[in-house]
Amino acid sequence: MKKIMILSGAGLSAESGISTFRDSDGLWEGYDVMKVCSTQGWIEDRAYVTSFYNERRATIADKEPNHAHKVLANLEKKYRGRVMHLTQNVDNLLEKAGAKEVIHLHGTLTDLRCEACTQTFHVGYAPQTGNEVCPHCGNKRVRHNVVMFGEAAPEYVHIQQAIKECSLFISIGTSGAVIDVIPIAKAFKHSIIIDPKRQKTVSMYDPKTYIDEYFEHFIQKKAGEAMEDMMAIVDGFMEG
Ligand SMILES: [Zn+2]
Repeated sequence: MKKIMILSGAGLSAESGISTFRDSDGLWEGYDVMKVCSTQGWIEDRAYVTSFYNERRATIADKEPNHAHKVLANLEKKYRGRVMHLTQNVDNLLEKAGAKEVIHLHGTLTDLRCEACTQTFHVGYAPQTGNEVCPHCGNKRVRHNVVMFGEAAPEYVHIQQAIKECSLFISIGTSGAVIDVIPIAKAFKHSIIIDPKRQKTVSMYDPKTYIDEYFEHFIQKKAGEAMEDMMAIVDGFMEG
């Protein structure tokens, strides 16, 4: 059975007005990025970091899925059980578009996580007030559910699983800066990369100049404008 691995990133949600703070240089909406995205910052000032994620959570409340989110949600439905969608995005726009099986590699804004039992629970867009209690174990020490620099990302286990199980790899709107897509692309005979601009490889061990050279197909468009081209390849692959 043919299966598809999708890896999506910030470029997918950019057209919905969600910007990424990981690649801003230093300051983002008045916050020190290294403080709010690192375990060190978290240890030093939990209130500051909590306030940052409270604001991020509130700002996604009125954001709407774009055309790409909708096409990807339909793709999951069309080939139910045959799509492994791994996203680096912490927003819920794929779910708002109807997707049900997305794996959030870097966590989710709309959940909190218990520091005792590590289970998550839904809070929607509400701010964390400090009065939350874990519904699973009753512990009162809870935190935002976004993976920070310097801590483990347990969902990364699904990357290797997807490489094993799938035979088409689609990379959408990810710069390759956080998760290197080249070794993933190399593991696939069939692959698609969607990016409005060509991204240079960074490792001195990469004999090629651009990341897209490692892919079978390069659709040089924004995610929302690339979906029809992508679906033509996907349908041909799945039904061929
Ligand atoms: Zn718990």
